[in-house]
Amino acid sequence: MPSDIVIVGGGVAGIAAAVVAARSGCSVTLLDSGSAVGGQYYRGAKSPESGSGLSYEALRRAFDELVVARGIDRRLDTYVYSLARRDSGFVVRTRGDDRHRGDVDVLESRAVVIATGAFDKQLPFPGWTLPGVMSGGGAQALVKGSDVLPGQRIVVAGTGPFLLAVTYALISAGGNVIAVVEANDPVGLARHAWSVLPAAGKSADLAKFVTALAKKRVPYLRRHRVRRASGTGHLESVTISRVDGDWRGIAGSERIWECDALAIGYGFTAQTDLAGQVGARMRIGSDGGLAVEVDERQRTSVPALMAAGETTGIGGVDLARMEGLIAGVAAVEQCGRQAALSDAAIARGMRDVLKLRRFADALHFAFPVRDGWRDDVDDQTLVCRCEEVSASKVRGAVSDLGARDARSVKLLTRAGMGWCQGRICAPAVDALCRFDSAASLIGGSYRPVAVPVPLGAIAAES
Ligand SMILES: Cc1cc2nc3c(=O)[nH]c(=O)nc-3n(C[C@H](O)[C@H](O)[C@H](O)COP(=O)(O)OP(=O)(O)OC[C@H]3O[C@@H](n4cnc5c(N)ncnc54)[C@H](O)[C@@H]3O)c2cc1C
Repeated sequence: MPSDIVIVGGGVAGIAAAVVAARSGCSVTLLDSGSAVGGQYYRGAKSPESGSGLSYEALRRAFDELVVARGIDRRLDTYVYSLARRDSGFVVRTRGDDRHRGDVDVLESRAVVIATGAFDKQLPFPGWTLPGVMSGGGAQALVKGSDVLPGQRIVVAGTGPFLLAVTYALISAGGNVIAVVEANDPVGLARHAWSVLPAAGKSADLAKFVTALAKKRVPYLRRHRVRRASGTGHLESVTISRVDGDWRGIAGSERIWECDALAIGYGFTAQTDLAGQVGARMRIGSDGGLAVEVDERQRTSVPALMAAGETTGIGGVDLARMEGLIAGVAAVEQCGRQAALSDAAIARGMRDVLKLRRFADALHFAFPVRDGWRDDVDDQTLVCRCEEVSASKVRGAVSDLGARDARSVKLLTRAGMGWCQGRICAPAVDALCRFDSAASLIGGSYRPVAVPVPLGAIAAES
C-alpha cells in the first residue's frame, strides 16, 4: 500500500514532520539508516550537550505515541538509495543494513519529505589520514554513541561553534582536551550581533560551554590552525601556528604539541543526493556549501517534494525542527488534507525559520573557511582518501594535463571515484585546482545511487 507521505531521515527535522503529518491523519512511513531515531544531534544514549530551549523529549514522546496510535511505519536500519518520480507521486528504493545482501524494497508515496541531514566537512593537510586524526563529529559520535574517548591527550581544532560542542562532550565524559584551536576570530560574531541576538536561546548553550572550558582550564586559541599531524603509525603530535586573516601561517609562531587524538572540523556539508536524483533545484548556502532550495513552506522545485533540516542548508537543531514542522504541514496539504496546526502556529513557525536562518547565516559569516589552508597541502598529502590520490596528482591534472573542471580531474586521477563518491574530497579538489566551486558543486550534485547497493538487487527488480 502506498503511504501518503514518506519521510527520509529520522533526525529532528524528520521526526517533527512525521508528528505533524500523522496528527493530521496522513499515513506516514519514516525511514532512517540508523538503529534509532534522533539523528546526529540526539545520537545514542547520551543526552544532548545543548538544551536549545526545545522540548525534544516531548517531540520524541509524541512521535513514539503516534507510532502506536496512528501507525507511523518507522523503519530503522533502512537506507534509501534512490528516489524517483512516478505519475503523481514517488518511488523510494531502500536497502537494509547489510550492504552485501540484496534485501531491497520499493515504496510508493504521494509526497516525500527529505530530511537527510549533513556530514562533517573535512580539509586535507599533511598527516590528516593518520590514525588518531578524526572529524569533530567522529569524536563526538564516539563519546555520545559508544562512551569511548578518542585518546588521552586530545586537541580539538578547525572552525566554528561546533568545536565548543565537541569539547564539551569530550570533557563531560572525562576527556583531557589540551586545547581548542580556532582558525577564525569569534570577535567577528559580535559585529553581527544584530542578527544573532534574536536567537537568544543560544546564549545559555554558549555560557555552558565557556564555563566548562574555563573550569577545566582548556586553552582556547583564536586565529590558530593545526598545520600538520605527525607520528609513526599513529598520531603523536600536531604542529600549530598563528594564522593571518586568510589562514596563512605566520612564520616563527609554530609550536609542536604532543597528543594522541585530534578532532578537527570545518563545518558541515548538506546531504543532498536524493533531492538531486529527482532534479530539485539547488542553491549555494551562506557557508559556500550546496543545499536544497526550498520556498517558505519547505517545498522544493519538484512538485510534492519537501525538504527540511540540514539538507536545506546548515543551520542547527532548532532550525531543523522548525523546518520539519513546516515541511510536515506542506506535505499534509499536498495530500489534500488540512494540517492539525492552527494558522497562527504555522505563521509563527515560518517566522522562526527566518529568524533562525539569519542566525545561521551570521555564524557562517563569522566562521568562514579561508583559502590559506591550501598552502599547507604539500605534494604527498592525500586529497582523496578512498582512491589514495595525492595533491601532486590533482594539481598535475590541471598544470600538466590541462584539466579545466572537476569532472576532468576525476577522470584523470580517480579523485572522487571511490567509496564516498567525492562527498569528502570534492570541495578540496575544487579549491586546490582553483575551480569555481559553486559551478562544480551544482554540476556534481547528481548521484544516481545515494548509498552502495548490490547490482544484483537492482537487477532483480527489473
Ligand atoms: C556529525 C555531526 C554532529 C553534530 N553535532 C551537533 C551538535 O553537537 N550540536 C548541534 O547543535 N548540532 C550538531 N550537528 C548539526 C546537527 O546535524 C543538526 O543540528 C540537527 O541534528 C539536524 O537535524 P536533521 O534532522 O536535519 O539531520 P540529522 O540529525 O543529521 O538527521 C538526518 C537523518 O537522516 C538519516 N539519513 C541520511 N541519509 C539517509 C539515507 N540515504 N537513507 C536513510 N536515512 C538517511 C541519518 O541516519 C540521520 O539519522 C551535528 C551534525 C553532524 C553531521
